[in-house]
Amino acid sequence: MAEKRDYYEVLGVAKTATADEIKMAYRKAAMKWHPDRWVEGTEAEKKTAEEKFKEASEAYSVLSDPDKKAKYDQFGFAGVDSQGAPDFSGGFGNLEDILRDLFGGSFGGFGGFGGFGSGFGTGGSSRTQTRVYKGRDIRTRVRLTLEEIAKGVEKEITIERNRPCPDCGGKGTKNSSDVKTCPTCKGAGQVQHVTSSLFGRTMTYSTCPQCGGEGKVITNPCRTCGGTGLVRRKEIVKVKIPAGVEDGMQLTIRGEGHAAPHNGVNGDLLVIIEEVAHSNLKRNGNNLFYSTVISVTDAILGTEIAVPCLDGSYKVKVDPGTQSGAVIKLRGKGLPAVSGYGSGTGDLYVKILVWIPKRLSNDEKAALQGMRTSRSFTPDLSRDDKAVFDKIKDIY
Ligand SMILES: [Zn+2]
Ligand SMILES: [Zn+2]
Repeated sequence: MAEKRDYYEVLGVAKTATADEIKMAYRKAAMKWHPDRWVEGTEAEKKTAEEKFKEASEAYSVLSDPDKKAKYDQFGFAGVDSQGAPDFSGGFGNLEDILRDLFGGSFGGFGGFGGFGSGFGTGGSSRTQTRVYKGRDIRTRVRLTLEEIAKGVEKEITIERNRPCPDCGGKGTKNSSDVKTCPTCKGAGQVQHVTSSLFGRTMTYSTCPQCGGEGKVITNPCRTCGGTGLVRRKEIVKVKIPAGVEDGMQLTIRGEGHAAPHNGVNGDLLVIIEEVAHSNLKRNGNNLFYSTVISVTDAILGTEIAVPCLDGSYKVKVDPGTQSGAVIKLRGKGLPAVSGYGSGTGDLYVKILVWIPKRLSNDEKAALQGMRTSRSFTPDLSRDDKAVFDKIKDIY
């Protein structure tokens, strides 16, 4: 490398300079020599600026590090050079932090910064215009009975969510004149970093530390919302739940989540369905299942039973000679499919179980004894009956 200038000389500070003085000096040098300030310059000017900026950055990377500074003070370039190029590039790797430190929080007191951002303000401003803020989603659960699921229902759900502040209209301040273009990024929302190393110069962007990427700062924030433009509200949202939904399903209600900062796009409300167990009916998909117990005589002679359906009680005929375990299918008495998911309405399956009495009167016993040898009471599996028993055997 060409002859190097003393780091203190480069920054124009005394050897006794404090950390703050060194920082200020580098700030000044960075402002002056940052290559972005010289984009309009001649090639020679650009080259000089780049070298000066590199030089100042290198000096600062050493003098701002107490350990390296101590070594430099004691051994000169040998003290830091011994750590070689990686140390140098490592220092520049942290340039982002340095710039955040320089142009971030303590920026306010420093004048003459104005021209610095002009080079990249134009490139970034289009980004600002297209940037859309999105509010967070809200997740909630709703409990539904099968009756509600059968028909679909409108539920009122209470949620706590961010809404635009009523006092400032979500702008974060009452006077639009209090919203200023962020001086750090010139409204771009991003700052450009030039990372220099021995191998050249690369440019990276990161979110502006002063405005958090918004491109604007509020000088007199609204008292109600503290400048965020958002307030917390407990609100009731009416949610239309379509018929046929199932436990665990999630409905997305667009735009009913948290409001976004800066009047952006609302988040969504995600409603997770929880099904309340029914006292009589069981559900599997769109089909419903019901089981009931009848007497031996009803099974033999036939009867009529009441089956609770979701839209009331239905009378169902049980044929004479119905076997225990027989299933009666009530077509279309199940649940509808959610529109867009499958088609058709499910069925209601009624399972008939026959109860065998344990205690009989002497007369009843005698009557049954007389029937014991009767042909009618000897098992004779007709095809229909066999199917019923086969089904029961399948299950167990
Ligand atoms: Zn900014
Ligand atoms: Zn407000």
